[in-house]
Amino acid sequence: MGSRMAGQAMLEKTMAPLQGLSGRDLPEQDMQRRLDGGEVARRGLMLVLSSPSGAGKTTLSRLLLERYASIELSVSVTTRKPRPGEIDGRDYHFIDHARFDAMVARGDLLEWAQVFGNRYGTPRAPVERVLSAGRDVLFDIDWQGTQQLREKGRDDLVSVFVLPPSIPDLEARLRTRAQDSDDVIRARMSKAADEMSHWAEYDYVVINREVLHAFEAVCAILAAERLKRERQTGLSAFVRSLQAGL
Ligand code: 5GP
Repeated sequence: MGSRMAGQAMLEKTMAPLQGLSGRDLPEQDMQRRLDGGEVARRGLMLVLSSPSGAGKTTLSRLLLERYASIELSVSVTTRKPRPGEIDGRDYHFIDHARFDAMVARGDLLEWAQVFGNRYGTPRAPVERVLSAGRDVLFDIDWQGTQQLREKGRDDLVSVFVLPPSIPDLEARLRTRAQDSDDVIRARMSKAADEMSHWAEYDYVVINREVLHAFEAVCAILAAERLKRERQTGLSAFVRSLQAGL
């Protein structure tokens, strides 16, 4: 994804008003208790955020990771060259085509796709490790990757598509990011129409008019999805323990 760690100043600005808004200042454990009702064990879920570049999903991802210690970001492998400020292993694992081919051949990638002439993929092992520990994984992947996860029948998949409020707004955000040349920005703008045509394949759609409101919407989605009965694997035992006390 775009420089995941870009916009620190922007983040600090957005985090400040959050403190009083909805519990950012609560310890994560308290937050969890509020969200999922306490000690009941649950299965982790795969939260996918997709959008055209510049719609704000990088900031949303950062905010989610800041708020929830129980979410881990899936760091993709890519054959794209690092942008200024991007760090290998944090933003992406930057690898060459030969290594990418080898990972595909070994089945090490949960999904992969070609985007803007480069290849991107999700390493399988870290995702499975996090999910089996009952934690959630956040993915910043495109519609092609989301489609592959859905086709594999992953019932732990929760997909969210982020739309910009307008095209001028999208272009302004791409330019502010100022990490890409004019040609790349033009290419990303023309790709946006194609990206956006996939909105209807997603479980949820959030229009990012104002980042904090969009963030609250994603948190609400997460809270509801975590509460799904089938994800709360410890419910039977919990109810049995309630009944034993009657
Ligand atoms: P960027 O080059 O701006 O970092 O990312 C370009 C696009 O590739 C973004 O839409 C991003 O969501 C997508 N992308 C990043 N990692 C992956 C991945 O592992 N799989 C897929 N399918 N898309 C990815």
